[in-house]
Amino acid sequence: MIFLKTIPGLIMRIDVFTLFPEMFAGPLSNSILRRAQNKGVVEIRLHNFRRFAKDRHHTVDDTPYGGGAGMVLKPEPIFEAVEHLKNTTGPFPLFYLSPKGKVFNQKIATEMSNLKRFALLCGRYEGVDQRVIDGLVDEEISIGDYVLSGGEPAAIVVIDAVVRLLKGALGDEKSSEDESFSSDLLEYPHYTKPREFRGMEVPEVLVSGNHKEIADFRKESSLKITLQNRPDMLKLKGEANG
Ligand code: SAM
Repeated sequence: MIFLKTIPGLIMRIDVFTLFPEMFAGPLSNSILRRAQNKGVVEIRLHNFRRFAKDRHHTVDDTPYGGGAGMVLKPEPIFEAVEHLKNTTGPFPLFYLSPKGKVFNQKIATEMSNLKRFALLCGRYEGVDQRVIDGLVDEEISIGDYVLSGGEPAAIVVIDAVVRLLKGALGDEKSSEDESFSSDLLEYPHYTKPREFRGMEVPEVLVSGNHKEIADFRKESSLKITLQNRPDMLKLKGEANG
C-alpha cells in the first residue's frame, strides 16, 4: 500500500504524464471532478514529460527501428519524468493508457479507487518505446476496442470513473451504488417531473408509493434493458453461477 504524505485527509493522489496537459483543463475544472478536488478528496497533478527531453528542441519522439509509418515516443524523457516524481514524492503504480491494454471496466475502476495513489501515462503517435512498458509500466489499460489519437481522453475517462467512487466525491454517496455495472445488471430507467410530457406518462408504479412494487419494477426493467443491450452480461453471470 502506498501512503500519501502531502495533504492530511486526502483520499487519493493521481499523477498524469502527458504531452498535452491543457487537454485536461475543461474536464478537471468542472462538475464532480472539480468539486472532488476542491473538497480535498483527490489531488490530480499533470506532468509534461517534454520538460525532461534534453536536446535543444525538446524532442520526445523518433522514427521506429525496423521501419514503418509514424513516430514512437522515446524512452528517456518518460523514464526521467517518472523517476523524478518517484524520487521526490515516493512510489506509485504506473498505468499506461493503450489500445493493447486490459479493457477498463467498473471492476477495475473499483479496484483502482482503493489505491491511495496511482499515475497514468498518456501515449501519442504510434505509442511508447516498448522499454517504457517493460521497465516502468505496471499495467496497460484500454478504454475500449478503438484507437484514439492520444491517451488523454482515455485518462480523463479513467479519472472520472475512479474519482466518482471515492467517499465524498458525489453529493449523495448512494448515487454510485445502484448504477449500471455496480451489480450484474444495467441500471433501470429514471423519470422526473413533469408526470406527463408530450403524451408520455411516468409509469404508474413509480408514483404508487409502494416500495416493494417499485423495487420489483426496477429489477424487471434492469433485466429487460440488460437483455436487450448487453445479453453478454447475463450470459457471463449464468456461467459464473454454473
Ligand atoms: N499504434 C498503436 C496501436 O495500434 O496499438 C496506437 C497508438 S494511438 C494512435 C496513440 C496513443 O493513444 C496510444 O499510445 C495510447 O496512449 C492512446 N490510445 C489510443 N487508443 C486507446 C484506447 N482504446 N485506450 C487507451 N488509450 C488509447
